[in-house]
Amino acid sequence: MWAQQQNQVFWETSAGQKILTLDFIFRKISEAQRSFVDAAARRDIHVVCPPDCGSCCHGFMPDVLPIEAEYIAYFILKENMHAGITSSANTVSSASTEFSAFAAPEARLSRKASDSPSPCPFYEPNTPGANCRIYPARPLICRLFGYASTRAKSGETTFRFCRHMPTPDGLSERTLSARKLEHDIGATPPLMSDFSMELLAIGPSSAADRRPLSEAMPPALARISAILRYSSDKPEPEPNAA
Ligand code: SF4
Repeated sequence: MWAQQQNQVFWETSAGQKILTLDFIFRKISEAQRSFVDAAARRDIHVVCPPDCGSCCHGFMPDVLPIEAEYIAYFILKENMHAGITSSANTVSSASTEFSAFAAPEARLSRKASDSPSPCPFYEPNTPGANCRIYPARPLICRLFGYASTRAKSGETTFRFCRHMPTPDGLSERTLSARKLEHDIGATPPLMSDFSMELLAIGPSSAADRRPLSEAMPPALARISAILRYSSDKPEPEPNAA
């Protein structure tokens, strides 16, 4: 997803390397979900969210690991830069102000009382079908909603259709065991617990630092902005330096 030919020095930092690792994991999830949906479609079973739904964000604030917040921070800063904001100091200052406000308890209360059905700072209620302002960079849990399987205590993999999804023609049950998935669809959606473990492996010591997204964003924006500033201050390496 990221244009690695730019900000070469940033991508060589520890933060840049972790963001690239997370990007790779997110791409694997997208590919696994695409292959599940395509396998179902080949059997005329259409697994699809209802049009303009967005219900999975309603009343929901994702908890994220620091690396997920930093991935979003890079996305925000990069998008702002592409939008023509040339001063990274101004970028982080305005972005941090926005997310500090969301993190304040009184702002959370007033936001709860607002018309928005979601407390998530990235939810945009006025664009049905495109409610997430950071969709390409959304956290793990938001990627897995509706298109992931879980492992029961017995160890068996199970897929349950989101309650907002209609039961596709060709299926009679809304909860499918691994055996049923193989028989009816010929594929299994990505296993949520496997990808959670892959994310944790990026920074095992950060497992205890999982926080609500609105609280995780201000420090993530400050850190990634500082690293970007530091990286861009360094001279570009000479192409043929010995
Ligand atoms: S990050 Fe995006 S997808 Fe996730 S809850 Fe917020 S608005 Fe919804």
